[in-house]
Amino acid sequence: MSLAGKLARRITVSGPISIADFMAEALGNPRNGYYTTRDPLGRAGDFTTAPEISQMFGELVGLWCADLWSRMGRPSPVRLVELGPGRGTLMSDALRAARALPGFPEAIDLHPVETSPVLRDRQRAALGDRATWHERLDEVPPGPVLLIANEFFDALPVRQFQRTAEGWAERLVAFGPDGGEEPRFRLVLAPVAPPLPGRLSARPGDVVETCPVGRSIAAEIGRRIAEHGGGALIVDYGYAGPAFGDTLQAVRNHAFAPVLDAPGEADITAHVDLSALLDAATCLPGVSGWGPIEQGDLLRALGLGEREAALSARAPDRAAEIAEAADRLAAPERMGRLFKAIAIAPTGLGPPAGFETAPHRP
Ligand code: SAH
Repeated sequence: MSLAGKLARRITVSGPISIADFMAEALGNPRNGYYTTRDPLGRAGDFTTAPEISQMFGELVGLWCADLWSRMGRPSPVRLVELGPGRGTLMSDALRAARALPGFPEAIDLHPVETSPVLRDRQRAALGDRATWHERLDEVPPGPVLLIANEFFDALPVRQFQRTAEGWAERLVAFGPDGGEEPRFRLVLAPVAPPLPGRLSARPGDVVETCPVGRSIAAEIGRRIAEHGGGALIVDYGYAGPAFGDTLQAVRNHAFAPVLDAPGEADITAHVDLSALLDAATCLPGVSGWGPIEQGDLLRALGLGEREAALSARAPDRAAEIAEAADRLAAPERMGRLFKAIAIAPTGLGPPAGFETAPHRP
């Protein structure tokens, strides 16, 4: 049975489900989830990410890691963890750049965290057998950690709450005819207690999103850094919340698609509340958060201009293509502003590279 069929039956039998449950099934169902069944990346897929646009992205992330590792006192081994590595492109570009710092490559112990079997195969092809894969961050062995996540948190399930004239309601996914049409997935409202404190200014119609799974992963990152030292760099499209707004979107074939219509066939994401992740990651003493800063500012601070010049000097016939990729990653009207970065590190290490002017204040 199709995933849509299974979800329709489940809802018919036991009632509407949260948007988070719908999203978790659509993306991660072990038999017919979107990520379980395909490699969605690249021109032939549904969307393209920064590391797939240019090797410069992963190389600069590798230099960010090398700098932090030096300042951590060069621990060996250091767990290099990536959440949701896609095709493994970012990691293999980062590892190549890491060779610039003697001793660093030998210290690295690689731990990709990936649930999709299809993408694990792609990652194995890119990274070889030196990595140890995990389904969840909490399976990664303890020890000093450098953690990277690009376009990972946007794929985690969100719940949505809507202010109504009578109070707060959760937006749930129901299945059925809507005034005589064919039955389909549609949103209904179910009264709930206020989802977050301090929302008194909400007006009827306002929507808030929360990402409980994202917050608990961020808390786990903070816990590891507090206990064992290290740092994390998280990049995603999103905002510095709290804020109102329905940001749920589906993408298929590089174009927006209806969110509820074809579970398992389209990528479903929500914009990431990067401040909420920082709050969750920094609740233990001794751990500081940095950002959010714009992706363009981060990449320029890490040396995007110099990398672009060096690559173009080596391959003059590709100079225009390299310049176009740098522009796409960093220009504010392209990916440079919508995509933002945050960092988490022990307070004693000071600001991670690129975050010097952007301490997070909870
Ligand atoms: N970071 C890559 C891929 C981004 S797509 C890049 O920038 O190109 C999202 C990635 O997260 C995919 O690899 C997907 O399979 C993985 N993913 C999604 N949900 C996950 C979860 N709950 N646990 C682990 N990996 C997950």
